[in-house]
Amino acid sequence: MNLHEYQGKSILKSYGVAIQEGIVANTPEEAVEAAKKLNADTGTDWWVIKAQIHAGGRGKGGGVKLAKSLDDVKRISDEILGMMLITPQTSAEGKLVSKVLVGQDVYYPGDSEPSEFYMSVLLNRSTGRNMIMYSTEGGMDIETVAEETPHLIFTEEIDPKVGIQGFQARKIAFNLGLSGKAMKEMTKFVFALVKAYEGSDSEMFEINPVLKTSDDLIIAVDAKVSLDGNALFRHKDYAAMRDVTEEDPTEVEASEHELNYVKLDGNVGCMVNGAGLAMATMDIIKLSGGDPANFLDVGGTADAARVEKAFRIIMKDPNVKALLVNIFGGIVRCDRVAQGVIDAYKNIGDIQIPIIVRLQGTNAVEAKELIDASGLKVHSAVQLEDAAKLVSEVLA
Ligand code: GDP
Ligand code: MN
Repeated sequence: MNLHEYQGKSILKSYGVAIQEGIVANTPEEAVEAAKKLNADTGTDWWVIKAQIHAGGRGKGGGVKLAKSLDDVKRISDEILGMMLITPQTSAEGKLVSKVLVGQDVYYPGDSEPSEFYMSVLLNRSTGRNMIMYSTEGGMDIETVAEETPHLIFTEEIDPKVGIQGFQARKIAFNLGLSGKAMKEMTKFVFALVKAYEGSDSEMFEINPVLKTSDDLIIAVDAKVSLDGNALFRHKDYAAMRDVTEEDPTEVEASEHELNYVKLDGNVGCMVNGAGLAMATMDIIKLSGGDPANFLDVGGTADAARVEKAFRIIMKDPNVKALLVNIFGGIVRCDRVAQGVIDAYKNIGDIQIPIIVRLQGTNAVEAKELIDASGLKVHSAVQLEDAAKLVSEVLA
């Protein structure tokens, strides 16, 4: 589950990570109040106004601006609030901004040597260990750094038995060119960051930039925090941070029905039971010349109600030109799924696209008979190859 910058920063701060202080605001008036409060708390008399959306690259799209007076704060917040912010990470129409973070300006006027670094914490899936990825090239798109100057990206892996070690934090500071007070501050920063990552059950932290000021403070200026959805039961307060308006509405609807749905860009909708079978089905669709429109795992109980819900969700996508149902009846009986498909089809009525149903496993033959006898425009198959052939035929 992705968080807004202001939410991510509040988690970081609770673990002692030094952050650019800020207050979130919903209106230009609230932004001015926030700026006054920051002035009272931190002494800052310049502020940065930052659009809060679930996408990076906001600066490039005009969603991060410096305000040098309270009038600026009001004017800029007014501009940013309500805008459709387009960044390299949003769709072409952009994302609606409904909150801004008013932050203290941490780039001191006239600071001749602020340095921006990149730092993320994430799981290295090939070793099964958490790691810190960092670079001297902060403030830039890390993908670009990886392409153009890969030698400037470093990683440090954390041994889960002993946790992050002092020498590792010092090595990170050293590789970033730090010494003296800045090195000490960076060491503290790294320790706190790892503690926050582990304590919050996060999937990914990306802090870009991490700022070193000319007086050697190390500060998280940005924070992209992605929490592990499966651990949210341990963090009720974080679960409440979910902002469904930032998510794909169809995916939200699917998750409310415990359907595991991810929208993709292709033209063949798939309804499958089990994630592994779903992956294999998507491969088969590709091989037969189609392109999967979605990943959808209906899970163990493919009864009529769930099948209907899944059909409705898949068919909301106007790109879907055919629907492939691929169910393996291990625990669930194929004839029951077939009946579910028939009932769902009849309930929805007016289905315009061909449906190919492949049922294999317990009572597969009876299932095929049910489908074939239903008189509906449903093509049935027992072998996956046959189903794939049917998909390419109906698409042709
Ligand atoms: P992103 O564009 O979505 O990654 O948003 P960031 O929070 O990283 O901000 C973008 C850029 O704005 C940063 O790389 C900084 O260069 C700049 N920026 C952020 N905070 C401040 C600030 O307090 N003062 C000034 N002058 N610039 C800032
Ligand atoms: Mn950033």
